[in-house]
Amino acid sequence: LPEQEAFDIEYWLLEEAKLQRMPKPKSLAGKVAFVTGGAGGIGRATAARLVGEGACVVFADIDQAALESTEADFVKKYGADAVRSVRLDVTREDAVIASFAEASVEFGGVDILVSNAGIASSAPIEVTELSTWNRNIDILATGYFLVSREAFRLFRRQALGGNIVFVASKNGLAASPNASAYCTAKAAEIHLARCLALEGADAGIRVNTVNPDAVLRGSKIWSGEWREQRAASSKIEVDELEEHYRKRSMLKLNVFPEDIAEAVYFLASDLSAKSTGNIINVDAGNVQSFTR
Ligand code: NAD
Repeated sequence: LPEQEAFDIEYWLLEEAKLQRMPKPKSLAGKVAFVTGGAGGIGRATAARLVGEGACVVFADIDQAALESTEADFVKKYGADAVRSVRLDVTREDAVIASFAEASVEFGGVDILVSNAGIASSAPIEVTELSTWNRNIDILATGYFLVSREAFRLFRRQALGGNIVFVASKNGLAASPNASAYCTAKAAEIHLARCLALEGADAGIRVNTVNPDAVLRGSKIWSGEWREQRAASSKIEVDELEEHYRKRSMLKLNVFPEDIAEAVYFLASDLSAKSTGNIINVDAGNVQSFTR
């Protein structure tokens, strides 16, 4: 190489190395995220991922005790300015409207909604009570509708675009035995997200879905009767469940709340700026639903 050219290359390599050592700005700095079910396993892990990227987070959950301890933990770790909590039942229209108004006043707006609050129930159709069916539809399908509607109203007023991520479920795509109410409500969430992606695109509002497969650790759903019911439906013992899910995955791995949080973060950030109406399945490659 001529002397000048060699010098230039060395110069640019040094400049690039310098840039790589510089602290990167946090990707969600200045953003506000509203996370429903924020005091549960996946919601909490998601909130931690978003706060870690510089976002302020509003935890919205029906479980007062879990909300208080989650808020206290986050305030200790990230400071009081980054965190608020609001007790919210996502099935109550007036409460949803009030909680968005409150978040908006507290933080001056909302940029990201993570709709994640949920329950799960399992029973064969012949013994599924109407009240159980309605509870699944109310919390999952209607709850996701109510918080999305409020986010849309706010996003349109703010005129800054917006971002919605649904935590739905693989069970919304693939049927699972003895869980018709839950699976149907989850399918409704997935389709709602697609409809909203279409409606929001002109205003720069993106709407995407993350479908977790079984996340046993940290989930309150899995600490209840769902655990026994899932084991019974798969004809295995409760303590075999994790291995069961691991074995049926292509990657032979279990899925954890942090794995879901990573996918939510991707969709909530500009990393996915050109994705809307899409689904990320976080299931380590579930062979069962892959082959259907
Ligand atoms: P979790 O029980 O730990 O968290 C759910 C949270 O939602 C809880 O804190 C609960 O108090 C809250 N909640 C329930 N009803 C509510 C209501 N009416 N209003 C407001 N908050 C309410 O469970 P998780 O595993 O973290 O589940 C989070 C989401 O992920 C749910 O939508 C669930 O269906 C979905 N999901 C979970 C799994 C899994 O295996 N854990 C798999 C697929 C999908």
